[in-house]
Amino acid sequence: MATCKFCGCTEYCACKGGCFWVNREQTICSSCAIRHGTRFINRVSDAIVRIISANIDEDMSPTVTIEYEDSKRFTITALDFMYHYSEV
Ligand SMILES: [Zn+2]
Ligand SMILES: [Zn+2]
Repeated sequence: MATCKFCGCTEYCACKGGCFWVNREQTICSSCAIRHGTRFINRVSDAIVRIISANIDEDMSPTVTIEYEDSKRFTITALDFMYHYSEV
């Protein structure tokens, strides 16, 4: 079963307040990516980002707000994030 390598949460036992996977390998959950300041790299542009917030809305797919090293911030869906970024 997919398990977060930091906190051990799973599909069936999410972090308090909810979390979701932020990498394709399903080894890092959104709570831990924020808490640990995990750095991710864009597969195409090589830009480095951190996730600064995870947004869970029951009616929509989850999104993450990411911050680039130049402090620019963007909000994208978790699926887009997983597709374009991987852990450094
Ligand atoms: Zn975790
Ligand atoms: Zn979690």
